[in-house]
Amino acid sequence: MTPTPPAGQLAALDASLDVVPAAGDRRRHPAPAHLVFFHGPMDCGKSTLALQVDHNQSRQGRHGLLLTQGDRSGTPQISSRVGLQRAAIELDADTDVRLLVRDRWAAGQRVDYLIVDEAQFLTGAQAEQLAELVDESHVDVYAFGLTTDFRTRLFPGTQRLFELADDVQRVQVEVLCWCGLPGLLNARVVGGAVVREGATVVVADTAPAPQPPAAVPEVASAGDAAVRYQVLCRRHYSRGQLGPTPTVPGQLTLR
Ligand SMILES: [Zn+2]
Repeated sequence: MTPTPPAGQLAALDASLDVVPAAGDRRRHPAPAHLVFFHGPMDCGKSTLALQVDHNQSRQGRHGLLLTQGDRSGTPQISSRVGLQRAAIELDADTDVRLLVRDRWAAGQRVDYLIVDEAQFLTGAQAEQLAELVDESHVDVYAFGLTTDFRTRLFPGTQRLFELADDVQRVQVEVLCWCGLPGLLNARVVGGAVVREGATVVVADTAPAPQPPAAVPEVASAGDAAVRYQVLCRRHYSRGQLGPTPTVPGQLTLR
């Protein structure tokens, strides 16, 4: 008997087993699906990668659904900093992702894979639903999300995906702190100061166009001060130092 490998190596192991005669139960599951989670700080290119994965999958003739959460536009979409965008289905905390997929199947639509952006906002139950879709329905799931919140704690959805995913990958596009070191932490900035306490989910709008207060979601209220996020290295997060030059409006967003 060989020892059981860590979950992160299962995808590679499955690929290597393709050339090995299948045994036992594997014969009945010729194409096992996978739950893959990509994570990183803001602006690390998660949404760009999400759209690239979707593109690659659809080129193979596969059919997918794009899911997102916390979209403020009213027309949910996955959009990337480099200008790509695609329409997406908006999830809320009560959405059962299994039912969402089964409804599509009932309507005669193929669903071979899911792209889940903003996966940090998933509930633990929804992450478990994704795992069930992988195991019981052979739907591939590619989830993309922020690693930690402004308190440097794992988001709930991120934590559950860390626990359940077959493969967890840090997105390799490096985001730099103003000092030039890799930026790994998402600082919440209110009134020009780093804050480390408060509601976990505050979807700040840092888009170039100023937003009227009415356009800011309820959860974004943090007094009257504007809320924005800035990626910092650990040292400058700890010191609360935001750098010598003010951030250019629109330079930093949550996604
Ligand atoms: Zn720094």
